[in-house]
Amino acid sequence: MELTFQKPFDAHLHLRQGAVLSGYARRAAAFFESALVMPNTKPPILTADDLKRYRAAITTAVPNWRPLMSFQIHSHADIPALKAAGAVAGKYYPAGLTNADSSSCQTLADFDSVLAQMEEFGIVLSVHCEAPLYSEEVRHRVLDESLEMSVRFPNLKIVLEHISLEREVEAVRLAGENVAATLTAHHLTFTAADFIGSKLNPHLFCKPILQNEKHRGALRAAAVSGNPRFFFGSDSAPHLPEFKTGTAVSPGIYSMPVTLPLLACLFEEADSLTALESFVSVFGRRFYGIPETSEKITMIKKKLKVPFETDGVVPLCAGAELPWSVKESEEK
Ligand SMILES: [Zn+2]
Repeated sequence: MELTFQKPFDAHLHLRQGAVLSGYARRAAAFFESALVMPNTKPPILTADDLKRYRAAITTAVPNWRPLMSFQIHSHADIPALKAAGAVAGKYYPAGLTNADSSSCQTLADFDSVLAQMEEFGIVLSVHCEAPLYSEEVRHRVLDESLEMSVRFPNLKIVLEHISLEREVEAVRLAGENVAATLTAHHLTFTAADFIGSKLNPHLFCKPILQNEKHRGALRAAAVSGNPRFFFGSDSAPHLPEFKTGTAVSPGIYSMPVTLPLLACLFEEADSLTALESFVSVFGRRFYGIPETSEKITMIKKKLKVPFETDGVVPLCAGAELPWSVKESEEK
């Protein structure tokens, strides 16, 4: 069995920087015609010049690829300059959560004037959504304040990133047309039992952490529902092996090598293979206003033996055998 469709768009991708960037970017470009690249480099992408430099580094690694750029929201963000440099999204990292740093403010309301300009210039607000185990207050605040902003700025498009809870799915469903959410392949496939079941698997440690069956079920239903405000964002976030062992393991999963095969399994299980293209190729582009592509990808029902190491990183599903593969990747 084969499945050919428009080459996908990844609405949430980490490419890192320096020597490792090239391998990660090439891997992503093999499967995705375009991707929205996250700005949490070290230091983060804050200005138009940062953004241009980072895009240049990516396109040097993969000359014919189309990375879409984002910046980290801060109170002095020069929105007209960022727009002119090609920014399509501003990322909000709430204080107290993963990736937040000293520039993070306490609430979205701290950025009122920045958000008003983003609305005016057509830049999407991308919200790092996380449900920390240790803070019920933060868990609910990020979602509630995002919804509040969607009403206060009705022309500001808002994407709740890597949602993981039933409550978040419901909130997006009930929100206005300017609110959407990305879903990752790992949150759709795995639960906390896979991560901390009989043995702890550091390669399934991500933020937000994997949840239980009830939440995964809600995410799966949203993914295959055909609702255009749920679309794919891999949140593929590679870490070199030294950061995945020892006493301080970093959150992040290198899902890119297996993300499309996992989604094909999932959509086949739900008897919804025909809905896969919308989820990975159509809805995200439409929400971001990105042109479609004539490039295609073909998936084939052929076993994929996942290696124990890819691009110097332990990939998701390392050592496992998946029933679907991407045909093009084998030809490269
Ligand atoms: Zn991320």
